[in-house]
Amino acid sequence: METYRRLPVSFLRGRGVYLYDQTGREYLDFVAGIAVNALGYAHPELTRVLRQQAQELLHVSNLFENPWQEELAQELLDVFWTEGKVFFCNSGAEANEAAIKLVRRYFYERGEQRYRIITFYNSFHGRTFGALSATAQEKVQKGFGPLLEGFDYAEFNNFDSVLKVLRKETAGVMVEVIQGEGGIREGQAEFLRKLQELCRAEGLLLVVDEVQTGVGRTGKFYGYEHYGLEPDIITLAKGLGGGVPIGALLAREEVAQAFKPGTHGSTFGGNPLACTAASVVVREVKKLLPHVERVGSYLISRLRELNVGEVRGKGLMVGLELEKECSELVLRALERGLILNCTAGKVLRLLPPLIVQEQHVDRAVEILRELLT
Ligand SMILES: *Cc1c(COP(=O)(O)O)cnc(C)c1O
Repeated sequence: METYRRLPVSFLRGRGVYLYDQTGREYLDFVAGIAVNALGYAHPELTRVLRQQAQELLHVSNLFENPWQEELAQELLDVFWTEGKVFFCNSGAEANEAAIKLVRRYFYERGEQRYRIITFYNSFHGRTFGALSATAQEKVQKGFGPLLEGFDYAEFNNFDSVLKVLRKETAGVMVEVIQGEGGIREGQAEFLRKLQELCRAEGLLLVVDEVQTGVGRTGKFYGYEHYGLEPDIITLAKGLGGGVPIGALLAREEVAQAFKPGTHGSTFGGNPLACTAASVVVREVKKLLPHVERVGSYLISRLRELNVGEVRGKGLMVGLELEKECSELVLRALERGLILNCTAGKVLRLLPPLIVQEQHVDRAVEILRELLT
């Protein structure tokens, strides 16, 4: 169906930070499947373990014990701020659906009539009904009503607007520390700290949507670490499987208890193939964090030198806000062998594989300079 406006190229294979089209032409990829291909293409270790796992076992039902999930959960929890548990699914929207359900169930178990969740204008949480209802963007929601009840929208980086929508039924706050689809808009440290304090004071659950910011994208393993937050729940997907679909919901131990056998589930969620891929990605990304920070800072400073608009972001999640619509620029960059993305109308979004090097940044910036001047 015509749900995507597709660019006129099809890629047949990839290596490192490069993709190749049907004529064998090489493209430098600064989108990485929208923050998915964290280790780039045909990563030797990821390829090796996937091939091996495919020969052993692709899938086993969640009716049975699953050591691949246990191993991956441990890797994810080792860098979560506290003791917790993990639920596995297949995408970002699904992880957020699970988060919404867990918030409601947690208060149900406590016998409290709290179910409402505060989310933010310009956010993006996914396309399923719960996630869509959380996504306070008219262009995403238009024509799909009635939406799921129980969301109150506040303005990002405006704490007073949060207080205005707070009610006695409020159960949680769901936030991206850097709005991704919304145009790489960073949460202000002060704003995020106040949100955290509010959650503590009012007994609300703090849910951080780390679907785009998580798994090393911003230079820390989880984006919330930049701001010293202590979330109750986080959601992951995109980069987690390095290209194999997998999502995850992490929750603080006491919160996770609210999901009991039979309360939630997924047929494919956390199957051996996906968990094997994600375990490799997580281990490799942990080693790459200083690299992401260094190359990310380099990318940001090189883009600032261009002097063509505001540069925002952290690590390798970077936005360049231009004066006009950027979809035409994306097309022209593609003709020059550079893959870029344009989001929120005027924001050029750069999300290269986390293995990208300074030399690739130089090449991308050079092409951009030529196109913009
Ligand atoms: C992409 C994204 C989602 C949705 O993930 P899907 O895998 O497309 O369902 C949710 N939240 C954020 C922050 C995202 O960037």
